[in-house]
Amino acid sequence: MNLSQRVEQVTPSKTLAITAKAKELKSQGFDVVGLGAGEPDFNTPQHIIDAAVKAMEEGQTKYTAASGIIELKKAICEKLADDNGLSYQPSQILVTNGAKHALYNLFQALLNPGDEVIIPIPYWVSYPEMVVLAEGVPVFIEGKEENEFKVTPEQIEAAITPKTRAFILNSPSNPTGSIYRKEELKAIADVCLRHHILIVSDEIYEKLIYDGLEHVSIASLSQAAYENTVVINGMSKPYSMTGWRIGYAAGNEQLIKAMTNLSSHSTSNPTTFAQYGALAALKGSQEPLRVMKEEFDKRRRAITELMNDIEGVYCTMPKGAFYLFANVSEAMQKGGFTNVDEWAQALLEKEYVALIPGSGFGAPHHVRISYATSLEQLQEGAARIKRFVEGN
Ligand SMILES: *Cc1c(COP(=O)(O)O)cnc(C)c1O
Repeated sequence: MNLSQRVEQVTPSKTLAITAKAKELKSQGFDVVGLGAGEPDFNTPQHIIDAAVKAMEEGQTKYTAASGIIELKKAICEKLADDNGLSYQPSQILVTNGAKHALYNLFQALLNPGDEVIIPIPYWVSYPEMVVLAEGVPVFIEGKEENEFKVTPEQIEAAITPKTRAFILNSPSNPTGSIYRKEELKAIADVCLRHHILIVSDEIYEKLIYDGLEHVSIASLSQAAYENTVVINGMSKPYSMTGWRIGYAAGNEQLIKAMTNLSSHSTSNPTTFAQYGALAALKGSQEPLRVMKEEFDKRRRAITELMNDIEGVYCTMPKGAFYLFANVSEAMQKGGFTNVDEWAQALLEKEYVALIPGSGFGAPHHVRISYATSLEQLQEGAARIKRFVEGN
């Protein structure tokens, strides 16, 4: 079968191979410790489920406007004003089938063939693929481990060419949990504004920040930054709503309109009753979020300590999200591995621990450990990794 060059360019997800293998082992009855999860292990809060059920019972089972129901768009505007100090009109909001869909539409609406998008390494796996699917060119710059995996304005500036259209910022970051401080964001905004480069700010983990640190949206730093940024966010991570598929983009009205046109011809609208659930999430009690965050924080401290106790494994305490990004290059060397995929594969086959090799994030000496699982599982997983690495 001849497929389009477009899809032929897309790399199959590396994370899927190991997840599939873990599932297979589990179904065969092996006691697999899963540290690969990319979603909270909490249930969607009950009041959100109730709101969606009620909406369905009341007949909210038909198409909506492609950009989403007006009540939800207004609630998103309120959220962006209250939490982030950003002032938007509903016409600047597109509700999508998850934040991923918002990003996909954005690159489709923004890029011409050959346009470049600057992406920091380690990156969320889908960014480069989405840019390629829009016939754009990902340009990578490496966030150094000594700088908490963050990129500098100088690195961004050096990567800029006449073809650069956008820079992707993800703070807090998946996979590293790093957070850009306000001064760092200011310097990044300055560079992007000077070169007329759109800032794509993926803020999906903004509510999961620890140690009393605060999230700052780069769009809030100045009027110019506001005009030059598209904010991407969604319900999946803060409200444990990954399966509901509700996210959004906020930004320039003309761009949002173009992205809405794409939705109208591809997905029509995000699921109607899921939008009512999202409305309840934003308007209702934020207590479940507080409880989840407190639990994540405990696990974060525990797993960081446990992993650092393993010879040849190094990691710093992540400041946000629910992932630990550990350097395993010495552990790999010790075991005679030259490739982190093989190391992760061997760990799974020998000790039945599933984690995500960093190669999929552009980081071939690291692994991502998700702490969206119980403390007991984290302890068991760490004990097995220790045995695998130290060999006793
Ligand atoms: C999970 C995630 C998303 C998208 O989540 P949706 O479920 O599509 O809303 C976007 N960016 C990052 C960095 C993520 O980890």
